[in-house]
Formats: sequence, structure tokens, C-alpha cells
Amino acid sequence: MAILLDGKALARKIEIDLADRVLRIAGPNHEPVLATILVGSDPASATYVKMKGMACRRVGLEPRPVFLPEDTTTARLLAEIDALNADPRVHGILLQHPVPAHIDERACFDRIDPAKDVDGVTSLGFGRMAFQLPAFGSATPTGIMTLLREYNIPIEGRHAVVIGRSPILGKPMAAMLLNANATVTICHSKTGNLPDLVRRADIVVGAVGKPRFVRGDWIRSGAVVVDAGSHPGGVGDVDLDAVADRVSAYTPVPGGVGPMTIASLIAQTVSAAEAAG
Ligand code: NAP
Repeated sequence: MAILLDGKALARKIEIDLADRVLRIAGPNHEPVLATILVGSDPASATYVKMKGMACRRVGLEPRPVFLPEDTTTARLLAEIDALNADPRVHGILLQHPVPAHIDERACFDRIDPAKDVDGVTSLGFGRMAFQLPAFGSATPTGIMTLLREYNIPIEGRHAVVIGRSPILGKPMAAMLLNANATVTICHSKTGNLPDLVRRADIVVGAVGKPRFVRGDWIRSGAVVVDAGSHPGGVGDVDLDAVADRVSAYTPVPGGVGPMTIASLIAQTVSAAEAAG
């Protein structure tokens, strides 16, 4: 019987602990603040930002939503980030990915003060995390690692195959698994013989962005499946229905990786507020 890696339940548990921590640092009318920047009106991004704001409120943080129009320039967004960096009331900054294509997203991410980079998107944060120095990790892979550890999933010495190499998910995921002493294979759109590589995995992370892209017959019995994908109809990047009865553990969609991403963002915001004193 496969273990269900229940991200929703763990996120709830984490939030209870975070609410206690916030109580200890928040003064009257002085809650720690997470600024959330949404550029444009992509409905999925708007929903994610709303969910993050609701999670803030559940633990006693104050969300400060910043909405910018679709035609915002890179310079305008950089100026907004500068203002939030300089504001001592703001402890964390989330720039919702993706921003409209005309904006230099990397420049904007890297403008975020590393002390407020609670979503773990800066190049400096990535490098420090990869070198196992103190840093906020990218929220989604950080949440995945927290989930795997909670369920005592063995990582050391295991072969992990990460499908996807994006800066916010695939690459930091691979670095975190490597730091946990897994042997890591990173796959991407130019990878040859992908099914064969996935068949050799003890741990498979689907981070492709294509519904049910990873076929059931690519996954060996007893593997651990982490599905970061989230598509309409409650479908992820992995064909979970085909494997749920023969893998050793898997993250459901929804209720697996998604809630853990938000829990990591909120946890890192609380840590940033504690560090700011
Ligand atoms: P992304 O930036 O679009 O990256 C997708 C990756 O998949 C790229 O590295 C791409 O390779 C690779 N890829 C595309 N087609 C492939 C193919 N045919 N074979 C092998 N690899 C292929 O997406 P992302 O932001 O990393 O997100 C990935 C998924 O995770 C999406 O479903 C997204 O919705 C989900 N996600 C979920 C959360 C959450 O909180 N639950 C958070 C973030 C993302 P190239 O580099 O070669 O193009």
C-alpha cells in the first residue's frame, strides 16, 4: 500500500506552529508583513497570490498585496522592489512568477534583498543553498524536501530523477536532493531516452508543466513519486492513476506539493521576521 505524502495535512500542522511563532514576535497592530507583487491579470497567478495572502492571515502575518498593470516596465518593477526592500515594516517579498514576457524577471528577482527573499528566487540565495550555506530555499523544492523528511523517505544513496530544470523548481530541487546525498539525474526537453532514465529512478520528481506527461510504465514499482504539476481537473505532470497502487509513496494532486509550497513561503517569512528582530 503506497504512502500518501499528504502535503495538505502537513501544511496545516506547520501553520499551527507558525501561528505560535508569530504570536511571539508580533506587537499590537504590528504583524510581520509579506508583500506580494502580482504583475498583470493572469488568473492562475492571481489565485496563487490570493491563496498566499489567505495563508498569511491564518498564521497572523499581514499580506501586503501590490498589483501592477500588465504593461509595467522592468524599471517600474525594480523601483517597486527597491521601495519594499527599504521598508522596515516589510519582512518578505514575493514576486509572483511568471511576470509578463517583456519584463526582465531575473533582474527583478535578483533585486530582492536576500534577507527578504522568502520565496527563494535570487541567484545569490540559489548559490548559497547549493553550497549548503544559510539561505532561504526556493519555496516549492523546499516544501518537497520538508514533505519527504516528514514521511522519513530515504534519500541518501538513492537515485533521484528530476524532470525539469527551471530556476525556481527543477534546478534547486536537484541541488537539494544532491545535498541530501541522493545521486541526481536532471532531465529536460533535450534529454534523450527519458523513459529509460525515469525507469532507473528510486525517486521521481515531475516538474515539467505538461499534464500526465510522465507515463505510468516509465515508473518502476516501489519508486517514490513527487508530482509538482498542477493542471485543470486535478491532474499533475505524472499519470498518478496508473501507478498509485504499485509505488511506495506519492504526492497527490491536489493536496501534495501545492500546499507545501505555500507553507514554505510562510515559514520563511516568519523566519525573516524573527531574524529582523
Ligand atoms: P517551466 O519553467 O516551464 O519548466 C519546465 C521544465 O520542463 C523545463 O526545464 C523544460 O525543459 C522541461 N520540459 C519541457 N518539456 C519537456 C520534455 N518533453 N521532456 C523533458 N523535459 C521537458 O515550469 P516550472 O515553473 O518549473 O513548473 C513545472 C511544473 O510545476 C508546472 O506544472 C507548474 O505548474 C508546477 N509548479 C507547481 C508549483 C506548486 O506550488 N505546486 C510551483 C511551481 C511550479 P527545458 O529547460 O529544456 O525547456
